[in-house]
Amino acid sequence: MSRPRLAVIGVGHLGTRHAEKLSRIAQADLIAVCDTHTERAAEVAAANGCRTVRDYRQLTDQVDAVVIATPTATHAEVANHFLTHGVHCLVEKPITSDCASAEELVALSRKMDLRLAVGHVERFNPAMVALNQLELAPRFVECYRISPFRFRSLDIGVVHDLMIHDLDIILHLIPHPVASIEAFGVGVFGQCEDIANARISFTDGSVATATASRVSIKSERKIRIFADETYVTLDFEQRSGRILRKGEKLRRGEVDPKTIDPTTLDNPMAFILSNLIEMQNLQVVEGDALEAEDTDFVLSVRDGRDPSVTGEHGLRALKVAEQVVAGVERSLEAARGAAS
Ligand code: NAD
Repeated sequence: MSRPRLAVIGVGHLGTRHAEKLSRIAQADLIAVCDTHTERAAEVAAANGCRTVRDYRQLTDQVDAVVIATPTATHAEVANHFLTHGVHCLVEKPITSDCASAEELVALSRKMDLRLAVGHVERFNPAMVALNQLELAPRFVECYRISPFRFRSLDIGVVHDLMIHDLDIILHLIPHPVASIEAFGVGVFGQCEDIANARISFTDGSVATATASRVSIKSERKIRIFADETYVTLDFEQRSGRILRKGEKLRRGEVDPKTIDPTTLDNPMAFILSNLIEMQNLQVVEGDALEAEDTDFVLSVRDGRDPSVTGEHGLRALKVAEQVVAGVERSLEAARGAAS
């Protein structure tokens, strides 16, 4: 396929940004946007030089691929429609609201030999791309993602809304089966959890923790990784990172920290950094994560290969998210039991 014809279904907050990116990707032809909110669709279409439709079914025979950015509760129905009719799909995260429908989408895409990508955009964050180059084997990963309340995605809790980004990254970094999950969370605005913490243990003994909140007064997206003789910190918002490794002198046995009296050092940190530990900034190549994700999807359609984040990746993150939510519910029940 030379230049796939695309449409964006749902042009609210994120779909509008997808439409902007797709209209600028040379290898794609954005032909339409679709939203039940017709005025919004008309505005986005005018800004990006394409047409609009009100019902996504009108696009069935006119596109090769779609980006689905409707509310999560509708992903399964919309993606199912397009996959059944031979159209490749990029579905925003989380892939669906429940694992059973995600499994159906994955099976359908494989049966139809169609690309199914999931919008775990943080995988395309330039800092994450730089981290991948290090080829670490993490033993411990700590993720921290907090944001102010945005009045959106209230059909899902914070685990499916925000933490799922980190669950996908954790599963990408630690390629071993999950052994157990402990979780805790509380709701603030409604029925779903708005703050949550999870501790995930893997069968190889490595551990990951994730904290997510959508009721904070500031926004932060950070990750810390402990691997053998290496410690990495990464800031997704700043698109930066730092690597600390065992220093060359220490590795060669030229210095022994046990024999050093810190009271004799004028500047202990300067001594540590020149003798014991090497500190480097992560070499991050600037880029736009959403544009990289959309380009990857378009090229996967054009070239007939899997996208970087497949339906299977979306499903495995969703399975862990469901286990985290089950853990959150258990912790809430225990708290209610203790209070009564
Ligand atoms: P939103 O409410 O701003 O936009 C959703 C749009 O879909 C609305 O304009 C609505 O009118 C439209 N819509 C609803 N049903 C439709 C249908 N049947 N046909 C056509 N249009 C329909 O929501 P949002 O914040 O953009 O979130 C959309 C999806 O993107 C959610 O699944 C969310 O989890 C995901 N999301 C992902 C990220 C990320 O970082 N990858 C960030 C935000 C949201």
